[in-house]
Amino acid sequence: MLILLVSVEAPKALNTKTPLFTRASFQMPLKAGAVQFDAGMMHPDISAVTVQTCDVQTEDYCIANGHFIFQEPVDPLYADPLAKNYKYASNDNGKRETHRGVDFSAAVHTPVLAAEDGEVVFAGMEKSKTHSPWVNYYGNFIVIRHANELYTLYAHLSRIDVEAGQAVQAGEVIGGVGRTGAAIGPHLHFEVRRGANGENFYSTENPELWLVLEKDGNGEAYGALSIQFDAGLNRKVQRNLVVEYYPTGSKTPETVIHTYTYPVGFENNQEDAVLSNLQPGRYRIVVSGSEGVRDRWVYVESGMLTKVYMSPR
Ligand SMILES: [Zn+2]
Repeated sequence: MLILLVSVEAPKALNTKTPLFTRASFQMPLKAGAVQFDAGMMHPDISAVTVQTCDVQTEDYCIANGHFIFQEPVDPLYADPLAKNYKYASNDNGKRETHRGVDFSAAVHTPVLAAEDGEVVFAGMEKSKTHSPWVNYYGNFIVIRHANELYTLYAHLSRIDVEAGQAVQAGEVIGGVGRTGAAIGPHLHFEVRRGANGENFYSTENPELWLVLEKDGNGEAYGALSIQFDAGLNRKVQRNLVVEYYPTGSKTPETVIHTYTYPVGFENNQEDAVLSNLQPGRYRIVVSGSEGVRDRWVYVESGMLTKVYMSPR
């Protein structure tokens, strides 16, 4: 089995205490061919941003507004923002079920917050396999319906403070972090789903495409990168993916991220990999598979989503 862990390594010449993504002070000219789109995003109106005009199959790559509209469901003061080593679509080297959300590690009873305004459509324990293929997989969990048939799911809760039918507002406390169901330790498992009343286990989207981007020490937002491959719907072939950050003028990468593309079971997802909270700047994407090695250069901008399509030849 392929390991789907994400690891980040710093080149040996760097002080290992260098922050993962430090803010560099330089302008980022768009590469020729990059197209800047304004999808008219206005938080918290979800419907205003769902029309995505970026066609990655005809553009070299696009820098779009994205839809980073869901606030973090656990206060960043109390939680690791995202599980760095058990990302969306990971299976922890085959040891765990393929991950359909992201995890926020936090102490039991840490408040869990609604990611956006919405209506609770499920709150309790799973009595039958309504939301997953396994009974009691999620323990105590909540599903909230938002605009545009989007749903967020909050699992392994220690307690539930809301009930089905209740309207909630973004940031409202809905429960507590726990370890009920199939949880190794206390954490919040957070999913984004679309359609089917939030009950389709396979209709998840990568939360890194939806959660508000974090900010650096100067209050400037990081950026995100979405990568789609030509054979994106054939996820039988998992590809090694390396994403390198190059400071302006540098011929060597300052940061190297190792990850893998989505496996079988993610056919509902348009893209093959997502990386969020990236230091803005110049990146090289290297993908290797049975068809060989390919690479592409792109820019990532503060608060924006860079979308790139890679064909094999
Ligand atoms: Zn999880």
